[in-house]
Amino acid sequence: MILSLHAQANIGEAMHALAAELYPICRSITGDGVRATLRRLQERIPLEIHEVPTGEQVFDWEVPCEWNIRDAFVADEDERRVIDFRESNLHVVNGSIPVHATMTWSELRPHLHTLPQHPDWIPYRTCFHRDDWGFCLTSRRFAELAARGERRYEVVIDATLAPGSLTYAEAVLPGECDDEVLISTHVCHPALANDNLSGIVVAVHLARELQRWNRRYTYRLLFIPATIGAITWISRNQHNLHRVKHGLLLSVVGDAGPSTYKRSRRGDAEIDRVFEHVLEHSGETFNILDFEPFGYDQRQFCSPGINLPMGCLMRTPNEQYPEYHTSADDLNLLSPEALADSLQKCVTAMRVLEGNRSYRNLNPCCEPRLGPRGLYRGFGSEGNHRELQKAMLWILNLSDGGHDLLAIAQRSKLPFALIRQAADLLIKHDLLEEQF
Ligand code: ZN
Repeated sequence: MILSLHAQANIGEAMHALAAELYPICRSITGDGVRATLRRLQERIPLEIHEVPTGEQVFDWEVPCEWNIRDAFVADEDERRVIDFRESNLHVVNGSIPVHATMTWSELRPHLHTLPQHPDWIPYRTCFHRDDWGFCLTSRRFAELAARGERRYEVVIDATLAPGSLTYAEAVLPGECDDEVLISTHVCHPALANDNLSGIVVAVHLARELQRWNRRYTYRLLFIPATIGAITWISRNQHNLHRVKHGLLLSVVGDAGPSTYKRSRRGDAEIDRVFEHVLEHSGETFNILDFEPFGYDQRQFCSPGINLPMGCLMRTPNEQYPEYHTSADDLNLLSPEALADSLQKCVTAMRVLEGNRSYRNLNPCCEPRLGPRGLYRGFGSEGNHRELQKAMLWILNLSDGGHDLLAIAQRSKLPFALIRQAADLLIKHDLLEEQF
């Protein structure tokens, strides 16, 4: 899929529209918000939804109680809601235990969270895995309430935290072989757009594109809650991890910043080389970061006992944009062009993975005669033919068992698609044989 600008604009708008549809749903690491989100995705791609019961042991963790929320507010003595979950689901600390109480400002105040450096933004806070509760609000609203002095407030968090299950989903697109490409994105954030709706919509559209291919690899796309969801999935699929040959995490892929790829723990996995190549040939600025044991689910997939070859595609990395984990990470921060561009880069990367193989030159002692085979046009040949000839000579020279086509593309600085095209011509003329 090399999209025209017009097609790219259309697909970017469709991705943004899906993000807008999902934006109001109050997601968490468990509960009906995740289920509602996955059901919307199920209307677009073949998703199997899994439920894992509370209490199941997953490595050093346990599947937590299920959290569901219906309403939450702080109301003053005139019954006016001064903090209202219905205005923004970020107003409640995600995972809060239920509360029905009347309390003074001094009692309420330790449970309130603000961002003084951005007085009009609501912070996103969570209290998973501990019994706590709280509200998040703009520091402007906080100042107004503080100015009222020691009033009494009705505080309600109409939520349940009870045994239930953790929900995740998989889309499996079978290929010619059982070797898998694992693509994962988290689905646990409430009204936040770049982190994490951008990853969801790119993954959905990538799945739709992959559905149309004759696939060499089997593709498994995961839609899982961050951390505990990844730990749960890995724990339940330990016996199949050997099938995962390449992996990719998608997060913060919708802002206008340049693409950023974070390498796998291995650092030289094929997926790492693929993204280096794709970004180098994108004609745009980009960043490549080395692996670190923090940030998103590489913490789990690249933990030492698992060590999957899993890279992470982002644009501006999570903690480097000021709107991260605040109400300002909204739909305005998502650019349709950036979403479409991130998708295009994923599609190009998967094309490289599908086409990357190793070959052996069957005529390695001096050059084979390309002219009689119709592969050489001599002086004066121009444009694509000249580049194609260069590609053929590079392939013939480096197809000695030690270089795959991607390595040849990198060494020659030619785009992979051209190298693949040249390899196909050489195979057709019995000059190359696949090396397994
Ligand atoms: Zn996050």
